[in-house]
Parts: sequence; C-alpha cells; structure tokens
Amino acid sequence: MQDFEIQAYPELWRELDMDLERFDKARQMLGTAYAKTFLSQANRPQKMAYFDKMISEIFGGRVEELMQAKKEGRPVVGTFCVYIPEEIVVAADGVCVGLCGGSQGSVPDAEKILPRNICPMVKSAFGFKAGRICPYFQAVDFVYGETTCDAKKKTWEILDRLVPTYVMEIPQMKKERDRVLWLEEVKDFKAKIEEVSGKTISSGQLAEAIKIINGKRLALQRLTRLRAASPAPISGKDALLIEQIAFYDEPVRFAAKVNELCDELDDRIANGEGAFPPEALRVMVSGTPMALPNWKIHNLVESAGAVIVGEESCIGTRYFKDCITEGSQEMDEQLAALTDRYMRIDCSCFTPNDERVTQVLQEYKDSAAQGILHYSLQFCHTYNIEEIKIREACQREGIPYLSIESDYSPEDIGQLQTRIEAFLEQIGG
Ligand code: SF4
Ligand code: SF4
Repeated sequence: MQDFEIQAYPELWRELDMDLERFDKARQMLGTAYAKTFLSQANRPQKMAYFDKMISEIFGGRVEELMQAKKEGRPVVGTFCVYIPEEIVVAADGVCVGLCGGSQGSVPDAEKILPRNICPMVKSAFGFKAGRICPYFQAVDFVYGETTCDAKKKTWEILDRLVPTYVMEIPQMKKERDRVLWLEEVKDFKAKIEEVSGKTISSGQLAEAIKIINGKRLALQRLTRLRAASPAPISGKDALLIEQIAFYDEPVRFAAKVNELCDELDDRIANGEGAFPPEALRVMVSGTPMALPNWKIHNLVESAGAVIVGEESCIGTRYFKDCITEGSQEMDEQLAALTDRYMRIDCSCFTPNDERVTQVLQEYKDSAAQGILHYSLQFCHTYNIEEIKIREACQREGIPYLSIESDYSPEDIGQLQTRIEAFLEQIGG
C-alpha cells in the first residue's frame, strides 16, 4: 500500500486550542484510511494529484489560508447546509466553509450531550466542536445553521454555547409566501455578513461572487456529465472526494483544478480509457449527504467491482445542478435571482417534494446507470420517508433498486456488503 501522510501543524493547532493528542491520532487514522480507500485504486487520473494534496493539507494548508483571511479582517463562516448562500459571504470578501460531519470518531463526543438517536451527521458535526478536534470549527468566526430538519434546528441552540451560531429560517413549502419569507431571510443573512465584515456589499461585488460560485458549479456539472461515458473515466470514490472538497477549497482555484481534471477525462474518453473496465456495472446513489470522510457506501460498491456514476445528494448534484442567473447589476434583482435558485433545491425537508423524484429519474438516465442505491442516514426521517416515493418510481420504471439506511459505524459493513453484492447480481442478471 502506498504511504500517505496528512501533514501535521502542531503550532497552528495549539493556536486554535485543539485537543492535540486526540487530533493527532485522528490525523494518522485518516491518512491510513485515505491510502487504503483512494491510493489503492487502479487507473486513477493523474490530475487527482491536486485533490490528494488537498487532503494531505486538510488540517493545515487550507486552515492557514482561513487564518490569513481572519487576520485581514475577512469573515470566515462555517455552514452545514447547501441552502446557506455562499455567494453573499464571497461578495463580502469572506470565506465560506462547509463544516464536516462524516466521521464516527466525533460521535461519542456528541453523545455525551446530545441524544443518541439522532442523525449521525448532526452528532458528528457537533462532536467535532465539543471535542475540539476540527481545525475548521476552531477557525470559523461563527456558524450559520438553518431550520431544515428537527435534529439540526434544535442542535443549533446547544451549539451556540460553544461557538456563535446564527440560524436562517428555511421554508418547508414552495408557495409564493414561502418565497417571500426566504427572500427576507436572504436579506437578513446579507445584513449579518455586512455587520460582521464592516462592509456594505455592492451589486458589483455580488455579481462577481455569483460568477465565481457559478464557475464552481459549472465545473462540477462538467465532471458529472463526463462520468456518463463508458467506460467510466473516473471512479465514484474520486468524484465523491472532489464533491466533498468543493465545500472547503478556495472556489476559483477549485474550479480551475476540476476543469483541468475534466480535460484529462476528455482525453481518456477519446482513448477509451476508464477507471473501471467497460463491463463494470454502473450504480447511481441517491439520498442524504455523504460528508467528509464518509466514503462507506462508495467503498463497498466499488470494492465489489461496480462503479458509481452519480450522486443525487447535497454532496453531489443537489449542490451544483442549478446556477444563479447572471447579468444583473441591480441588488434587488440579484437577490431575487439568488432566492429563486436556492428555492429550486429539492431537499426532503420540503413538502411536497415531488420534483426530487423527477430529478432522480432524470439523473439515472443521464448517467447511464443500471440501478439506483438509495442511501439514508439513520434517523433522518425526511429522507427515510421520502424513500417510499423513490422506490415506487423505480418500481414503475423497472429500475433495479436498493435502499440502505446506515450510520458511520463499521458494525453493519458485513451485512451491507452482502446486500450490495446481491443487488449487483440482480442488475447483472
Ligand atoms: S439534505 Fe437538506 S438539510 Fe441536509 S444539507 Fe442538504 S439541503 Fe441541507
Ligand atoms: S441527513 Fe437528514 S437528519 Fe441528518 S442533518 Fe440532513 S436532513 Fe437532518
């Protein structure tokens, strides 16, 4: 197995008041898991080197950039949901970081305080702060939560004791009055960011920020389209990793690196070169987000010889499928366009949310998948219940389908492996 080391930055971590001893162990474990999961893959695109580097610098290099931004008086904002409009933070010359919640390692820290029977993503994120084992959580000036699901909105009240936590009200329906509410919330968010940064955001700055974040989304859309080729030019694990890094990398640099990778994938497709053989079965994943470093399902499916060709998820297409209409230099129009784009997000927290069913079927066709694996985190009521409609749609369309509910612990790995292998046999006929 190839060696891989996550770089250590003890001075920086001390400055951030982290639990150094515990964190250093987590760093070593992550390095080992990364080498095993990613570097052991055959036929990886060469341009994955940048994303490997991003992981090796995950606990230092990028954090130093955040600290530099703070020193320059730029706001550094932590978020947990794709509803928080990062364009507004970028327009104020700030940095927006999606905080992770994908590790079993931080769950026991959360369970000392929070109930055990809530979503592992909420527990993991909270545990990172409670245990002082995430440099990003330590570096942010404040976090912005939202009222999407019950587990999150009640956790923000407790998290506020550890780090200043503001909450945006996300509507739960998509009627005109919900849009009006959401537009007001967007304006309040802008006012808060302006208050913290001490700057008024101009329409020119917002136009530029919209362009920057659209650039990131377009690069990710391009990557998604290329995955439809056969043989798949990139593994699902690598694509998922890129989608996870999208939440904390600098957006202009990130988009450029994704486009460089896509250029390489174009060449691979032209040469018939794939990350998997052409006969590998193709699976699309749909459901709850897979926050860094949650690679569990992708690892199981691809270890069984199939390739994952798409993620209908917030760490996936739900984050980047829609861009904001550009061109306006007028603040009210820009905020309206931004609001409309965010209202198109089809999270299961909305009711009804039938557009998600249509979206899943569309992505299934576009990705040339041969089956859908629905993935729901344990105790996520909205995705677990919405799964019924996705399952019915797959039955109607004759799409091979498997539904998995899981958490971050390794306890169900054996059972999941058996179910995934049976699913692949069903697809393969
Ligand atoms: S699944 Fe819903 S609540 Fe979770 S990050 Fe996505 S939009 Fe936000
Ligand atoms: S996965 Fe479900 S329960 Fe967990 S944070 Fe997202 S919406 Fe809430």
